[in-house]
Amino acid sequence: MILFPLSATDAFKKLGAALSMRIAAEALAGRALRRGDDADFESSSIKRYGKTLAGLFLLNYSEKLWGIPCSRLSAEASGGRLKGMNLKTVVAAALGLRGATEHMDGDFYYPDGGISAILEAMADFIGRENIRLNSTVTGVRADSGAIAEIEVNGKPVESAAGVVSTIPCDEFVRMMTPATPPGVRDAADSLKFRDMILVALFLDVESVSGSATIYFPDFKYPFTRACEPRNRSATMSPAGKTSLVFEIPCSEDDAVWKRSDDEIAGIVVESLSATGLARKNDILGCAVRRMKRAYPVMEIGFEKPLRIVMDYLGGFRNLRIAGRNAEFHYSWMHDMISRGKSIAGDIRAGRGGEDGGA
Ligand SMILES: Cc1cc2nc3c(=O)[nH]c(=O)nc-3n(C[C@H](O)[C@H](O)[C@H](O)COP(=O)(O)OP(=O)(O)OC[C@H]3O[C@@H](n4cnc5c(N)ncnc54)[C@H](O)[C@@H]3O)c2cc1C
Repeated sequence: MILFPLSATDAFKKLGAALSMRIAAEALAGRALRRGDDADFESSSIKRYGKTLAGLFLLNYSEKLWGIPCSRLSAEASGGRLKGMNLKTVVAAALGLRGATEHMDGDFYYPDGGISAILEAMADFIGRENIRLNSTVTGVRADSGAIAEIEVNGKPVESAAGVVSTIPCDEFVRMMTPATPPGVRDAADSLKFRDMILVALFLDVESVSGSATIYFPDFKYPFTRACEPRNRSATMSPAGKTSLVFEIPCSEDDAVWKRSDDEIAGIVVESLSATGLARKNDILGCAVRRMKRAYPVMEIGFEKPLRIVMDYLGGFRNLRIAGRNAEFHYSWMHDMISRGKSIAGDIRAGRGGEDGGA
């Protein structure tokens, strides 16, 4: 395992002198690398990090994650995660000239009890009686340039003053009446999403690694990464035990999606055993969850259909679109919370709904 972002001694020891020298040589040739086009993820990664570094850590991982070759991915597929990180800063960190995390997004706080603690706290603030669970929006009726009514669980129940939608934008377009113009529908249909299977293994060992996340860029592993939640917060596992949560990016059309939970867990266990990180005998139990539309796929050219969809939805005066799949933008939880706060501020200020409120 190699520490990432790279650290001087670790990288030199694990990658070996020859590879480290090659990475350094590519850094020195940085000027030449800056030439060329960076419209796609592959060329922009090579330009920023050099062929060796990009090949080792980024391109194979991204291809597994997105399910298409990096040459067909938009440069935006990095999701801003590697913002401020370039070959120079990576090499500077590798040589110990600057802190290993200085060029990353910074440090994160993680709540005791896991990420859902944030949502539970929000629910307490909002008041649970104001939140309806198991209520799927199945239809949206527009009238005179505004959203007039929404249908929940197949029943037209709500008249809408203001609507903030986190529904994936293509689904939203498809559920509208009157039907959206064919050009908008076609544009929405062309937007693609990546699904994901999460496999949690509960282990009878105190710790597997010191890392919050371990990445597996190699194609021989079916998963892209595994997180060890107790390394984010000790409350995530009982004393003396830990867990690993694996991510298997896929499409719901893939064979793996259709396999039984036991079969999927079995595949992960076999692969994990091969890494030597944990033994089969240490596994106390497992849980498998399928997540549709985990990521919007930023394939080259996605901007044009997306603009058609957003321009259309932007034409409804009491509608706001917010969220990763709703806006078709590779954004993060903190972005969503910030967006939610900004929309709530607008609504409070009377800029949110048909009659100024929502
Ligand atoms: C495996 C994984 C790991 C991640 N790790 C991180 C991380 O470490 N840090 C980070 O910042 N981000 C992380 N993310 C990203 C983060 O989860 C998303 O950016 C964030 O959840 C997006 O928020 P959202 O509100 O857009 O979407 P969501 O959280 O998906 O919320 C959308 C909501 O809309 C609801 N909805 C959709 N359709 C309907 C409908 N028809 N009717 C009613 N309700 C509907 C859904 O049920 C859902 O509650 C991760 C994502 C995944 C998949």
